Amino acid sequence: NRDEPHHFGAGPAKLPSDVLKQAALDLVNYQGVGLGLGEIGHRTETAINVINDTKKNFKELLNVPDTHEVFFLQGGGTTGFSSVAYNLVANYAKKHDGKKAKLAYAVTGSWSDKAAKEASRLGFDVDVVVDTKEGGYSNIPSYSDWKPIDADSTAYLYVCDNETVNGTEFKEVPDKSYLPENVELVADMSSDILSKKVDVSKYGLIYGGAQKNVGLAGLTIYIIKKSLLEQPTDKEMASYGLPIVPIALHFPSAVKANSTYNTIPIFTCHIMGLVTKKLLDNGGIDAIEKQNNEKAALLYKTLEKYPGFYNIRVANPAVRSNMNVVFTLNSDDVQKRFLSEASEKKLTGLAGHRSVGGIRASLYNAVSLESVKLLVDFINQFAEKNQ
Ligand code: PMP
Repeated sequence: NRDEPHHFGAGPAKLPSDVLKQAALDLVNYQGVGLGLGEIGHRTETAINVINDTKKNFKELLNVPDTHEVFFLQGGGTTGFSSVAYNLVANYAKKHDGKKAKLAYAVTGSWSDKAAKEASRLGFDVDVVVDTKEGGYSNIPSYSDWKPIDADSTAYLYVCDNETVNGTEFKEVPDKSYLPENVELVADMSSDILSKKVDVSKYGLIYGGAQKNVGLAGLTIYIIKKSLLEQPTDKEMASYGLPIVPIALHFPSAVKANSTYNTIPIFTCHIMGLVTKKLLDNGGIDAIEKQNNEKAALLYKTLEKYPGFYNIRVANPAVRSNMNVVFTLNSDDVQKRFLSEASEKKLTGLAGHRSVGGIRASLYNAVSLESVKLLVDFINQFAEKNQ
């Protein structure tokens, strides 16, 4: 048992205590076999059942259609920055006689900025179609203001669905008026996967680290349209002058081996299995989306009662993140006091990211409405006393 604070950390984030208790037992002795889940081979029947059960729960929750495949890799969101570019450039070359694809990136925060820079660093042809850096990444302009995509040469449009540091979230997928039909939509959902319904059929690829809404660090979830798995041979790639995909990042190999091409962390996968089972038992994605909407609405509404005292970084309600509520107070001094008084009330993990400062309350799935209500009470009291 543990005396839990009300923790609003941005990740790795809080997990349900009952899941952790079960996992702790399974780490020592799984299903009575005398070994724990960190100690068994990743290709044993037991491990394969863990992988398959976890995948099944996840697909059921997100209603993943048969056109798409789910698999896991190690490496976190950052590895996704490179794996996505390598694999989808290879797929584009397969479909276009060895042509090197252009890659369109929407830079709406520090994570999509990093993704675009990594693709560029690896030598890919990156086309930034929108960049909100000048406005402090505090808004997502409408698609009509983005640079048009070069439909003849572009493999995908990359977006970071929820910008964890800056607090913006896409509420609408770009439709045909912006996104050409033959250009795939790719989304980093590291910080909002399984927090809301998603129409997977609209995406070529979705990926995200597990450590915020789904489980522990060390496991990265990928959902890919099956038609994007085809790739040229290594010899063909070399003859096109394109980089061969590093094997640990090679999507077709991972899919073929049911995510066990190399050693994936089975214990971490099991935690995701337990978390997803709990979500299913508690009403599935509809229930969790409803609760997440309610938590975020309550917090934003409270902050809005004190304009000039609390400053919500993202002014436009239509693009505010449900997961990471980012705001500032008027001086470093007051912010420090806010954090220290909050922590006295066991409200923790509220310091903003080191690059932007301020306050950030992350409201991932395992943060209860009750915790948000306590935070809101504190926010009210602090404002009444200090404004
Ligand atoms: N993308 C997003 C949206 C993130 O929030 C993070 C991590 N906070 C990353 C990518 C990088 O993930 P990792 O640290 O697992 O590489």
